[in-house]
Amino acid sequence: MIRYALVCAKGHSFESWFPNSAAYDKQAKRGLVACPSCGDTRVEKAIMAPKLSGTRKRGAARAPVAPVEAPAQHGSTAPVAMMSPQENDLRQKLKELREHLTKNSDYVGQKFPEEARKMHYGETDPRSIYGEASLKDAKELHEEGIEFHPLPTLPDERN
Ligand SMILES: [Zn+2]
Repeated sequence: MIRYALVCAKGHSFESWFPNSAAYDKQAKRGLVACPSCGDTRVEKAIMAPKLSGTRKRGAARAPVAPVEAPAQHGSTAPVAMMSPQENDLRQKLKELREHLTKNSDYVGQKFPEEARKMHYGETDPRSIYGEASLKDAKELHEEGIEFHPLPTLPDERN
């Protein structure tokens, strides 16, 4: 004997015993299996398994999502990069450029905007200088058409 959980076309669920699964198929096909609630013979096997283990399964299915849902951890870490040899090369070049710039130009510190203007307006001979400029200074210099570039900063030197 085999017990089936069945459901009729109207959604009533009930249980019924059959000699075997083939007997169920035959009886159901012939309309011999009727719903005890409404007599509907359009019945089919209720799918019990997912219902019974549903809660646990849903929980398990949600679990892999958790690491994705934890961006806080991600955000709090500093950006790091595994650099390929080419990128390491580039980084080295950036460092060299920076060293070249600082070695071959005069450090003028806070006087950078002033010195840059003097050069721009021909008051002093053009030369390479580097120094500090506030955002406001930088903006003003830019508006006056004075070309300058921020010194390349290496990723690990940033604060
Ligand atoms: Zn029914």
